[in-house]
Amino acid sequence: MTSSRLPGFYKLPPDERLGKIVEACGDAEIKEMIKSGLSLEQADKMVENVIGLFQVPLGIATNFIIDGREVLVPMATEEPSVIAAASNGARMARDGGGFFTSSTGPVMRAQIQAVDLKDPHGARCRILEHASEITRIANEVDPMLVRLGGGAVGLEVHVIDSRAGPMVVTHLLVDCRDAMGANAVNTMAEAVAPEIERLTGGRVHLRIISNLADMRLARARAVFKADAIGGAETVSAVFKAAALAEVDPYRAATHNKGIMNGITAVVLATGNDTRAVEAGAHAYAARSGQYSSLSRYEIDSNGDLVGTIELPVAVGLVGGATRVHPVARAAVRILGVRSADELSRVMAAVGLAQNFAALRALATEGIQRGHMSLHARNIALQAGARGEMVEIIAERMASERRINIERASELLRELGGSH
Ligand code: NAD
Repeated sequence: MTSSRLPGFYKLPPDERLGKIVEACGDAEIKEMIKSGLSLEQADKMVENVIGLFQVPLGIATNFIIDGREVLVPMATEEPSVIAAASNGARMARDGGGFFTSSTGPVMRAQIQAVDLKDPHGARCRILEHASEITRIANEVDPMLVRLGGGAVGLEVHVIDSRAGPMVVTHLLVDCRDAMGANAVNTMAEAVAPEIERLTGGRVHLRIISNLADMRLARARAVFKADAIGGAETVSAVFKAAALAEVDPYRAATHNKGIMNGITAVVLATGNDTRAVEAGAHAYAARSGQYSSLSRYEIDSNGDLVGTIELPVAVGLVGGATRVHPVARAAVRILGVRSADELSRVMAAVGLAQNFAALRALATEGIQRGHMSLHARNIALQAGARGEMVEIIAERMASERRINIERASELLRELGGSH
């Protein structure tokens, strides 16, 4: 793709927008995949007791450059202003070269809890002495993953004192390659349990993945040039806003919610597990014992703002709904990512763009202005406006700063759009 900047994209009708994306990606099949969507038949195989489908808008965030590559970002969200803000944040990062990313690689932890132990520290050492045997047993149950260069890569063993007595918790570390990995590592955890019981002399209780995926971190960095974001005053305003989120959990929760507005929308669009990524992000944000922000902002020697983010992003390109849901498959093709690791890094960049756009709006004009004009469209729709009337009434309400159903109905009557 030559550029993710698509001027005027937001003004097009949905069909034409889809045409532009197909053209930009040079991939005609995307159109059919998005148009057909998930069938009831497919849905019925995914979960239990299916009675229908629940639809959520799918949009495209524009303007992203990630590691030098122009990227169009599909986002599935019900919240107005998220996609516009992500595009806006990405546009302001372009002067600084966009987003630069890195990661730890796709290693997940499975926890195997052993209880009823006579000598927990002795048990811990016996497990560690047999680490290679344990990883061998784990790898036997997923030869496919091993063939792909993944599989169990090591162990950590923790002695934990609890209200229910001492426990030995083995962490089986598994390189999940392009899978999110929950099923894969849970199967491995169950497979090694008898050997852990033999070594500890205790009883294995839980065997399950940890969503605190601190060995599967994705990072992104962007330089927001002072000139591109409104000058030194904006730099300082964002810096002060971010400083509060670092030390105050009340602010950090909302700060991180803003980050997840972006990340979760891409997680959902690609058919990944939104709860797994959310749980990991918030647990990671509290890893020091105090809940804090997932991003940091600094001012560099040029007076520009340097934004960085680091969080666990456990997502896959195989497994779960990613390969089943046609829209998720189309989303992955639009993104043009070739590995789960690359997908996780794109998500980190989206989180940073989203976060920066929200912070900038909050620290300068206030969040409501941008938010409200989009919210106004929803109110106009609720009041019964249709077609071009939606935009006209929304704009009037936004400019009057009177956005409510009563005003929308009044305008609808006044402008003759009622039916
Ligand atoms: P999966 O088991 O469907 O796919 C993983 C398997 O695919 C691997 O074991 C491997 O054998 C195979 N595979 C083929 N190509 C691969 C490649 N390129 N890279 C890696 N593996 C490849 O799915 P999963 O990723 O193990 O599990 C994800 C699902 O588990 C999600 O639907 C998630 O919602 C669910 N889940 C989550 C939790 C949790 O997060 N706590 C718990 C249970 C289940």
